[in-house]
Amino acid sequence: MTHRLLILGGTGEARRLAERALAEFGSRLQVITSLAGRTAEPVPIAGMVRQGGFGGAAGLALYLREQGIDLLIDATHPFADQISRNAAEAAGMTGVPRLALVRPPWRAQPGDRWIEVADANAAATAVRTLGTRIWLTLGTADIEAFAPLTGHWFLVRRVDPPPAPLPLRQVEILLARGPFALEDERRILAGHRIDAVVSRASGGAATVAKLDAAREAGIPVVLIARPPPPPEPTIPSVGEALDWLRARLGA
Ligand code: NAP
Repeated sequence: MTHRLLILGGTGEARRLAERALAEFGSRLQVITSLAGRTAEPVPIAGMVRQGGFGGAAGLALYLREQGIDLLIDATHPFADQISRNAAEAAGMTGVPRLALVRPPWRAQPGDRWIEVADANAAATAVRTLGTRIWLTLGTADIEAFAPLTGHWFLVRRVDPPPAPLPLRQVEILLARGPFALEDERRILAGHRIDAVVSRASGGAATVAKLDAAREAGIPVVLIARPPPPPEPTIPSVGEALDWLRARLGA
């Protein structure tokens, strides 16, 4: 019997999960990965891919029913909390088993100069005293909070060019797609004479190198706290998501 798995994606973990699930379960499992459609040219993903919102929890529940989805894994980014809430609610409405893959948070190491804040507004307040050349590794919604800092210069790294000008008086945009190596991040910090970095506390390996480079250089990092995690059951890795699938599909 063939089962149908929907992975809510947009992350490296989701991509690896699709690949490993297909490699392991072969024709016993159809894998559909859902992307929000934010990136113009997403990295190729094994299996089927669909794009665009579902229309809230009710829309996702309808999709699960219409597509005959048997299993749902929410492998979205820790800051994508709306879709995670929708996934939990849609699973509740339909009875489709749901698992959330929640990557472990970063942990401070000796030498880190982290300033942990609740949100982007608090981050904008924090950077006022940390120098004038700030690297923002944030999305547009969070960047808005830095608009009043007209005397600061900002570096912003993006996968795609922003669709509209960023609301910052002095800004340079760097186009690049992760994962990023330590050497790349060292070059950015030194080459742009960065005084402080602002990042969301995303966790995971793909973007941790900037924290390693900042620690080496003694540069402060303002970290915006994660939203609360999705409801249980949650697991921290692709390996454990595969265990969950094995338990449902048989080894
Ligand atoms: P969000 O705020 O939690 O979601 C907003 C709306 O976007 C959702 O209600 C849903 O629309 C749609 N959506 C989000 N993820 C979707 C998915 N995987 N498939 C289909 N629809 C989705 O999410 P976000 O922070 O904008 O993130 C969007 C996507 O980018 C996620 O897939 C996430 O994994 C990825 N991503 C996010 C970040 C980040 O920093 N937030 C970083 C890297 C990757 P409907 O209500 O219409 O269904």
